[in-house]
Amino acid sequence: MQSMNATPNADRIQIGIFGKTNTGKSSLINALTGQKVSVVSEMEGTTTDPVFKSMEYDSLGPVLFMDSPGSCDTTQLSGERAGQTMRIMRRADIAVILTTDEKDLEREKELARWFEDRKVPVIFVQSRADESDQMLPGCIRVSVRTGEGLGELKEALIRLGNQIPKNTVLGNLVKEKDSVLLVMPQDASAPKGRLILPQVQVMRELLDRHCVITCVAPEELGQALSVMTHMPDLVITDSQVFDRVDDVIGGRCPLTSFSILMAAAKGDLEVFLDGANAMMRLQNGARVLIAETCTHAPKEEDIGRVKLPNLIQKKLGITIKTTVAAGLDFPKDLSDYDLVLQCGGCMNNRRQILSRIEDAKAAGVPITNYGIAIAKLGGITDRVSLPES
Ligand code: SF4
Repeated sequence: MQSMNATPNADRIQIGIFGKTNTGKSSLINALTGQKVSVVSEMEGTTTDPVFKSMEYDSLGPVLFMDSPGSCDTTQLSGERAGQTMRIMRRADIAVILTTDEKDLEREKELARWFEDRKVPVIFVQSRADESDQMLPGCIRVSVRTGEGLGELKEALIRLGNQIPKNTVLGNLVKEKDSVLLVMPQDASAPKGRLILPQVQVMRELLDRHCVITCVAPEELGQALSVMTHMPDLVITDSQVFDRVDDVIGGRCPLTSFSILMAAAKGDLEVFLDGANAMMRLQNGARVLIAETCTHAPKEEDIGRVKLPNLIQKKLGITIKTTVAAGLDFPKDLSDYDLVLQCGGCMNNRRQILSRIEDAKAAGVPITNYGIAIAKLGGITDRVSLPES
């Protein structure tokens, strides 16, 4: 369980360890973290579920090591393992691929291509190596037993990790010391007794930029504006009340939504805007995949399951058929769908959403995001301030 002040996994560099079963993935992750986090055994296929270890890793800061079950193995659980491994592949910011001989190396190059197509850096490791073993080309030779190559591997991880661009949620929309008003409805869909992660992240970034923050529920927006000596530099609202807030603001200051900020920080605004245009052309009976990256218990007024599908049906005058994929689940075959509606993805890293975008593109299925879809359905995409990606 993560402590209250632990960095959320969404903000950690996620390092996936891949390779066939019995190539020493678990031993390597234990050696890299200096802790026993994975079950190690000589029996083929010991790791059946992914194992995660979060830690502060030298100058890289917060990272999450992910030990995948073996890929393409011949053991009985291989189908289940392959699915688990794919989930890890989708969220890895860096892939470390283990191999023990030349024949495997050739096979693993295919796995590496999957990452390279998605611009995810790959490190090949020749594992379980002894001094007498022939050096495999392009690999860092590592022996967990003698410690050979561990330093080189750590250096490579740190170098590649430092090259990963750090996306901020607010981008260029806010300057130091700006005054920013946040509108956060506390209806039945809001979790009891706490704020949701996008709101917390926005507030943290605003505090880091020494901004003055005012938070209100929509009912108090007018009152808040009436006591302010000047209009805020930016209003950020929950997208569900965008129209209502836009009416009150009346174009007197820039306005954006938490979902749009998350869409830009976690995905690709251009792709999502194209997807929203495709959404407006959906026909009666269209099949829509509701893709969420956490498994929250759905509420009565759940945005993805209830509000958004209703909005689409009402606006377009059609009936749609929805399927929900929650958490790390995401269908391998998207050809059954006419549209993917992705949530803000606040609980996971950008890489996972980018992987979903790649999958949707490859299947020729448009993909958009809750916030962008709501803005489009409300006809306000031209009234919303978009951060530069
Ligand atoms: S459904 Fe998506 S946006 Fe909503 S809380 Fe879960 S991860 Fe965050």
